[in-house]
Amino acid sequence: MVAINNISEASRIVVKVGSALVTRNDGSINEEFLDSIASDLLLLHKNNKEIIIVSSGAISLGNKINKKNKENLSLSESQAASAIGQIELINGWKKSLERKNLNIAQILITADDTENRKRYLNARSTFEELLKNNYIPIINENDTVATSEIRYGDNDRLAARVAGMLSADCLVLLSNIEGLFPKDPRHGKSALIKEINEINEDIISMAGEANGLGSGGMITKLEAAKICMSSGSNMIIASGNNKNPLTSIQRGGNCTWFNPEKSIKNSLKVWLSGQLKPGGKIFLDRGAGNALLDGKSLLSAGILSIDGDFDKGDTLVIFNNKNLEIARGLSNYGSEDLNKIIGKKSEEIKDILGYMDKPEVIHRNNLVYSGKKEN
Ligand code: GLU
Repeated sequence: MVAINNISEASRIVVKVGSALVTRNDGSINEEFLDSIASDLLLLHKNNKEIIIVSSGAISLGNKINKKNKENLSLSESQAASAIGQIELINGWKKSLERKNLNIAQILITADDTENRKRYLNARSTFEELLKNNYIPIINENDTVATSEIRYGDNDRLAARVAGMLSADCLVLLSNIEGLFPKDPRHGKSALIKEINEINEDIISMAGEANGLGSGGMITKLEAAKICMSSGSNMIIASGNNKNPLTSIQRGGNCTWFNPEKSIKNSLKVWLSGQLKPGGKIFLDRGAGNALLDGKSLLSAGILSIDGDFDKGDTLVIFNNKNLEIARGLSNYGSEDLNKIIGKKSEEIKDILGYMDKPEVIHRNNLVYSGKKEN
């Protein structure tokens, strides 16, 4: 996983396809689009690239039974629509890719499959097995069973978590947007931003401006970019409306390219930094915040307060004395016990709790940093 300048330099590529591309306006499957991207995939495959597809479209394709817009469906209506549409979606992919002699496999996942470490590792083995056997996994969220607590809700972040899980070199988000524009290009001239190294406030405000374009919206695409950048993957936003959209990107077609962070993280740290639903928050005094960023483990003595109801092993977001997020890490204590040892020395833990599992609340090997030291 390194910074690359073209998808031709990538070995493992995740391609996310938005609902608007696979569905025609009348709600039927867009075979021309699937055939066109299948030619791209064949070329990539011939060049020994490993490909993973994340495809939206189940709810749009299955929405025939409801006489409402997709946006106005109740949970059970969208779950039923996705159960109907997913078959059509996967059949569409199968027909187009098999015509090119490409093998596909279907994987339906819920957020638990990437947010729970054990399930994440299990899912990863399944993907690796399929790729090793030359199958292209086609993924969608398991909308039929996913309820709000365990839902990604958008395939942009799902695709970014999958790219991190598989150490993909790049994630391509194809929808009906060419990339990020400072201002909504439908309302006046605006120049496409070609390259982004950091998602700062300015970039986020542009997403607000241009939101409304495309089905997933720009906000979730930037959230996906954050996950990719911190896990070492490149990310590209490009339009899927061009014929052979992936080949077109390779040839220098319009897109916004997000470069990954330079720091190299191990698999645990990649998983931690992209966590979508951390279990709780922990607030530190200045000394503990700085010690943490110096590479020390987190001890109970430097904790000011905690927030949330979490278990041992859950991910905590760590804030410094200025309430800025500086790190994330795996807690050695659940919130109930942790509340009792806040501000106490490690030597006191055994007396207070009657046991001491670990002297540190978060071990430095289980931490990823995102902030700077305070003076
Ligand atoms: N999983 C949804 C579907 O297949 C799409 C979610 C999204 O548009 O990001 O309809």
